Amino acid sequence: MKERTTMKARLPGAAVLLAGLLIISQLAAGASVKKKEEAVASVEKHKAELIELSDRVWGFAETALVEHRSAKALADYAEAQGFTVERGIAGMPTAFVASYGEGRPIVGVLGEYDALPGLSQKAGSVKEVLEAGAPGHGCGHNLLGAASLGAALAIKELMAEGKLKGTIRFYGTPAEEAVGGKIYMVREGVFKDLDVCLTWHPDEKTRASVDGSQAIIDFIVEFSGRTAHAAGDPWNGRSAVAAMELFTAGLNRMREFVRPTVRMHYSILAGGDVPNVVPAYAKLWCWLRDSKGAGAEHLLGRVRRIAEGAAMMAEVESKITVQGGNWETLVNLTGEKAMFSNLQWLGPVPFTPEEQEFAKEIQRATGVDPKGLDGAVQPWTAPKPDPEGGSTDVGDVSWVVPTLSMEATTAPTGTPWHAWPVVACGGMSIGHKALVYTAKALAATIVDLVEDPKALQAVQAEFREKTKGVVYKPFIPEGPPVASKH
Ligand SMILES: [Zn+2]
Repeated sequence: MKERTTMKARLPGAAVLLAGLLIISQLAAGASVKKKEEAVASVEKHKAELIELSDRVWGFAETALVEHRSAKALADYAEAQGFTVERGIAGMPTAFVASYGEGRPIVGVLGEYDALPGLSQKAGSVKEVLEAGAPGHGCGHNLLGAASLGAALAIKELMAEGKLKGTIRFYGTPAEEAVGGKIYMVREGVFKDLDVCLTWHPDEKTRASVDGSQAIIDFIVEFSGRTAHAAGDPWNGRSAVAAMELFTAGLNRMREFVRPTVRMHYSILAGGDVPNVVPAYAKLWCWLRDSKGAGAEHLLGRVRRIAEGAAMMAEVESKITVQGGNWETLVNLTGEKAMFSNLQWLGPVPFTPEEQEFAKEIQRATGVDPKGLDGAVQPWTAPKPDPEGGSTDVGDVSWVVPTLSMEATTAPTGTPWHAWPVVACGGMSIGHKALVYTAKALAATIVDLVEDPKALQAVQAEFREKTKGVVYKPFIPEGPPVASKH
């Protein structure tokens, strides 16, 4: 501020200064459009390779922390394109960073590539398993990784030609669907020197992500009692399952007395073996969500008391182990506006009549209104005060570096997510269109931010303002993540 006042005093007048700034910014905008067009051309040039990469990852369909072939495919491609790749970071063999360039700004792009168990599906418009019991890309992360890498590559090429300054990094972030690989990477500090970070997610709409995501705490509840013959000497037994039933009853009674933003769900992992043995052990896997991490933590305090009460009634012991969780996403509206203007600049995702028909067949098959695909760029809307159901480890990244996100249409409107329609569309031209579109949108937004330091500073100023006084502390336990905890 001080420097600006001094400058103004030396110049003929504020009007001249303003006019000058306007010309400079218009010139910058003009130059920026040309570079954005070059970034788009670069994505077009690599389109076939990016699609092939995505299809390969779709075919591998590897789940959290065992995405070995998927991570290798993306890392090898980045390396072949001239990025320096560091593999196996933050204690995860399938996490990597691909970097190019030097100095500031340092821009990160996040990519995911983990699949979901049991969702194997062919790339067709009817429900048909590709391999019985195998995983499938029911969240479109095959597209997520390839599109983000495509954006990073376009920026790398502009840097290589001397048209952009700075460093571009692609982050291969595993296990979004399970342990949240990004949280471990955040704790390792791999994002801390970034100026800005960009990401996206497959969706049924195309838009700037202004609504964010919920915070979540992931924990295990265990009850330990003692066995006895259920008919012969039941008085010698103390049932862990009785405690578990009291616990779930308490949790479900609490549902009525929580804020509407709260979501609670659980799975019973162990609940006795045979009826004639009083069960000595019971285990539940629980998730608590709220629009803010503080809300979720408060809820955990209440749940601990329910577990203690249940254990007391059943005369057994209880134990709660927090094993992970995400912070809510900190939305950066200044950055989202830059993202939005680039979506408008690109226009809708251009789906063909054949693709619309494919989508309608899926909608008919799933009992949904056959409206087809909505590739239009959604109008800018004010962010919702509380995000709708869902959480992501992008949330944790967003508290350590300004993080921008968007969604692109990869599936028909209204059909179920984490389900076969997403797998089907992600393995054919509908998903491919969204992949190419997103690579262009992310690259164009990066060009804007790198070309206009003021725009980047505004994004960073909003981040600083919103994180003032906040101490980020991840929910994850000590040590590296483990693939299977149950
Ligand atoms: Zn996802």
